[in-house]
Amino acid sequence: MKFCPECESLLSPQKVGKSRKLVCRRCGYTRSLTSKVKATYRIEEKIDHGPKEETIILDEEDAKQRPMPTVRAVCPRCGHKVAYYWQVQTRSGDEGMTTFYRCQECSQTWREY
Ligand SMILES: [Zn+2]
Ligand SMILES: [Zn+2]
Repeated sequence: MKFCPECESLLSPQKVGKSRKLVCRRCGYTRSLTSKVKATYRIEEKIDHGPKEETIILDEEDAKQRPMPTVRAVCPRCGHKVAYYWQVQTRSGDEGMTTFYRCQECSQTWREY
């Protein structure tokens, strides 16, 4: 919200020619929308969307296509001793890396706690 410095009534955004301006309907005061003002609006929009989902999505297709390194890890389902593994950086950063495993034999996926 921007107010007119002349008469203190609310300025409304209007298209004047090719540029956008804030216009006072009462006294005719105009103020051009500078890029700085626009940038501020953009930042506000971003905040409105809220924080990104923290849930880590395991993309099955992506995991299949990517060649993954293997490690010696015992599968909790079938007891197989070799599993693929990959690491995911958690959003907050203070938890560090989380390691995920996927059994080479039965595709059981689990994470290291
Ligand atoms: Zn005014
Ligand atoms: Zn398994």
